[in-house]
Amino acid sequence: MKTVPTEWPKRLPAKIAFVGEAPGDHEFAGDPPRPLIGPSGWLFNRMLKKTGIERSECMITNVIDWKLPDNKVEAIAVPRKDLPDPHGIWSAHYHTPVVKGGYLHPDTIDTCLARLHDDLNAAGANIVVALGGLATWALLGVPGHGIIKKLRGTLHYATIDEKLLSGQKVLPTYHPAYVIRQFNHRPMLWADFLKARAESEFPEIRPVVTNICVPTSVNQIRNWWLGHPLDGEAVVAVDIETSKGHIDCIGFAYSSEEAICIPFFDNITGKPYWELEEELGARQIVSRILTNSKISKLFQNGSYDVQWIWEKWGIAVNNYAHDTRLLHHALWPELPKDLGTMASLHTDLPQWKPLRGKRMKRED
Ligand code: URA
Repeated sequence: MKTVPTEWPKRLPAKIAFVGEAPGDHEFAGDPPRPLIGPSGWLFNRMLKKTGIERSECMITNVIDWKLPDNKVEAIAVPRKDLPDPHGIWSAHYHTPVVKGGYLHPDTIDTCLARLHDDLNAAGANIVVALGGLATWALLGVPGHGIIKKLRGTLHYATIDEKLLSGQKVLPTYHPAYVIRQFNHRPMLWADFLKARAESEFPEIRPVVTNICVPTSVNQIRNWWLGHPLDGEAVVAVDIETSKGHIDCIGFAYSSEEAICIPFFDNITGKPYWELEEELGARQIVSRILTNSKISKLFQNGSYDVQWIWEKWGIAVNNYAHDTRLLHHALWPELPKDLGTMASLHTDLPQWKPLRGKRMKRED
């Protein structure tokens, strides 16, 4: 069977390893045949150029190195019931669909993943960029459909098998072929390539550390507040959470390193967090911060928060000067405005929703 071999960098280790889906006619027609040199390769190369990544320093490969019928994974996917049920080092992949309701034959998986595994180990890159659903399936062992939107732009270790990729970190992103069809998603591919370049300098996923104080006394809130400046330069980020008609909590932060989250309502027990006297004390401090015209407030979609704060607490927020959602919209009006997308583009935070365990109860 004809194949398109992996493209190796001039020198090892590779700066970044890119994994696509499968070669098409353009790749086979290359002299020599190379991955990602057709229309997808055109956008891929443009993104490399825009983000200052040298193709000649990278390893570029595909999950499947031969030609898919009609260039579609669907063409070789089969329903689960039509497959044998073997066990082996890729057994998790045998049971994880590549497309909706479609699985790859274990023989295909064994040969494709063994080759990919060997090539990635030989490349030794600090980061592997998974271009599209099939590459993300191969590298993370998650379903190959409907997952990219959630995972792209965030870092993950290849955890499906401890031996796989010897712990290399993986950054899933959209496949260039998809972005050619959805051209308004181009800034996300660009941002992800920029992140890959920055992350290529070191092998580990560096956690973003934020020290969050959850006060158990009004004095603690007062002390936190007194420990922070009240001058004209101050910008404080503010956010509330609401449920069942209550404001559950309000958070304040002066920087990405330090924050306070003041609880008010426990939506598990349905009870207030404080005794009445304490709650009045806590609210008084909150009110002093929110109404202080010298302190600029930064909200995320603050028209929601400001209205709740007024309606539930009778506090009129002063100097609501910045809004991350509006700033994001001004920068990239064509992009989605959900928090996951915004965080993936503007921060190094991990994909936090799956990390959320059961809600903790207050320890008395
Ligand atoms: N060409 C490749 O080499 N890989 C893809 O995924 C698409 C086009």
